[in-house]
Amino acid sequence: MIPKDQVESILSKVNLKAVVSQYTSLSAKGPNLVGECPFCYSSSFTLSPGKRIFKCFRCKKGGNVVNFIKEMEDLNFIETIAFIQLKYSGTIGNAPSFDKSLRGTVYVLELENYHYYIGFTRQFDIRMASHFNSRGAQWTKKHKPVSVLKAHYNKTLEYENILTEKYIMEYGYNKVRGGDHIFFHHKYSSLSSFN
Ligand SMILES: [Zn+2]
Repeated sequence: MIPKDQVESILSKVNLKAVVSQYTSLSAKGPNLVGECPFCYSSSFTLSPGKRIFKCFRCKKGGNVVNFIKEMEDLNFIETIAFIQLKYSGTIGNAPSFDKSLRGTVYVLELENYHYYIGFTRQFDIRMASHFNSRGAQWTKKHKPVSVLKAHYNKTLEYENILTEKYIMEYGYNKVRGGDHIFFHHKYSSLSSFN
């Protein structure tokens, strides 16, 4: 079991918009953000940054960041918490032992003009279809995928971060996205936005 206060402390660091932006593009509409639903591809998806919840009026999926990742990546609760912690909390290096149980495919996409995207997924085929149909991450919408450079099976999320840092060191932060977005953003970027 994961202690409840530990879960809350992880979730308090997570920006729902930054997480959802890895799966669909959002634009401002009043106090909310709207975009294409990453589940049913309708344009009925709404996110409230203030309430930190999302809702699709077509497929009825909704909830907080845990519900979103759980559904999107087909994970159980413990795996979802580990996934969020290692990708979105900016706390690489402080990961407790429960992250080790979560394994999936770590992949590297080569994008146009020598840009790269490193990702982790439990739903490799679905995720690849999304990236190549401009429905993956904002980064792979902006820079179209050219090919799957690598796919490492049965890897931990830590491996995604290791690989991401390797690519950032080699090609520069302006060319690479992946892993724990907040951590790499703070470490390698002087920009103030996630995009
Ligand atoms: Zn939907």
